[in-house]
Amino acid sequence: MSETSPRLRAELEGIPTYKPGKAAAAADGPVAYKLSSNENPYPPLPGVLESVASAAGAFNRYPDMACTGLMNELSDRFGVPLTHLATGTGSVGVAQQLLQATSGPGDEVIYAWRSFEAYPIITQISGATSVKVPLTPGDVHDLDAMADAITERTRLIFVCNPNNPTGTVVRRAELERFLDRVPSDVLVVLDEAYREFIRDTEVPDGVELYRERPNVCVLRTFSKAYGLAGLRVGFAIAHEPVAAALRKTAVPFGVSQLAQDAAVASLRAEDELLGRVGSLVSERARVVETLRGQGWTVPETQANFVWLRLGERTLDFASACEQAGVVVRPFAGEGVRVTVGETEANDIFLKTTEAFRKEL
Ligand SMILES: *Cc1c(COP(=O)(O)O)cnc(C)c1O
Repeated sequence: MSETSPRLRAELEGIPTYKPGKAAAAADGPVAYKLSSNENPYPPLPGVLESVASAAGAFNRYPDMACTGLMNELSDRFGVPLTHLATGTGSVGVAQQLLQATSGPGDEVIYAWRSFEAYPIITQISGATSVKVPLTPGDVHDLDAMADAITERTRLIFVCNPNNPTGTVVRRAELERFLDRVPSDVLVVLDEAYREFIRDTEVPDGVELYRERPNVCVLRTFSKAYGLAGLRVGFAIAHEPVAAALRKTAVPFGVSQLAQDAAVASLRAEDELLGRVGSLVSERARVVETLRGQGWTVPETQANFVWLRLGERTLDFASACEQAGVVVRPFAGEGVRVTVGETEANDIFLKTTEAFRKEL
């Protein structure tokens, strides 16, 4: 028997592993709140739970592969044809399919940095080359520099709006100017995972931009505002050839029936869910105002999290938070991203920032 191991694609070497937000501490530890993954702190609505419970009675069967019920609901909700929709295992799953469909070795994928940490991972898996364009000093996408970075090899550009982990947005005029500069054969993916938390009316709805532009694809998820992170369902709205390519690259039966039914129930309970989002947006305002009052510089956030650029003090701050009872998401040497969660959790975070501020 030979001692060589199976040959794996060289592209997989050195891929950073996705770092999930740290879990809250064990039950016997101090009270701990998880503010590390931008989840919705509210438990599922009773009606949503019921739909999942009833779907659970049939999980010996494969789910509806075409996600018919959910696709119909989305088509009505957004006023888009079924042929312009594709669902997937979370919007990260759909983003990975977009790369599979567009990019391979020799191709380039542009995105801002720092931005969503899944982008470098899924780009590298595809074999394409990442072109990371630094955020402006104000932690906003530098769209002019991103347009300047386009070459003959560019196949896909991610625009994360609002940006994870900074919460900052790009507004209508600058985004349209950027889109005008992108060649029509380059796909622009507007990742709008936090769309429902936006209150700045100058931030365009990606779905409006997609209607006019065949090379724009919008990604949305049920993981954040809709509170279904554990069920893995997201979707894309894109013009026909792109949406069709997404259906070709989908993992068969990837979206469970539980996820499909919960997503439909959530869309039908949208008023109640968006009411909860409204409460989180009020909490966000309180958190940002308090931080600024304490003397912190906080970029304007339109998502359900805040970004503190702590530089070398990042890990110290993250452990101070953990000791106080909240887990946050540190990016060593850069800063921490902190989800707006339950009021009690936010209060613990704000007490920690107050104490830490005095040490700086
Ligand atoms: C959380 C998040 C997603 C959504 O991920 P799912 O796979 O749908 O859970 C997508 N994009 C960004 C920028 C996110 O922060």
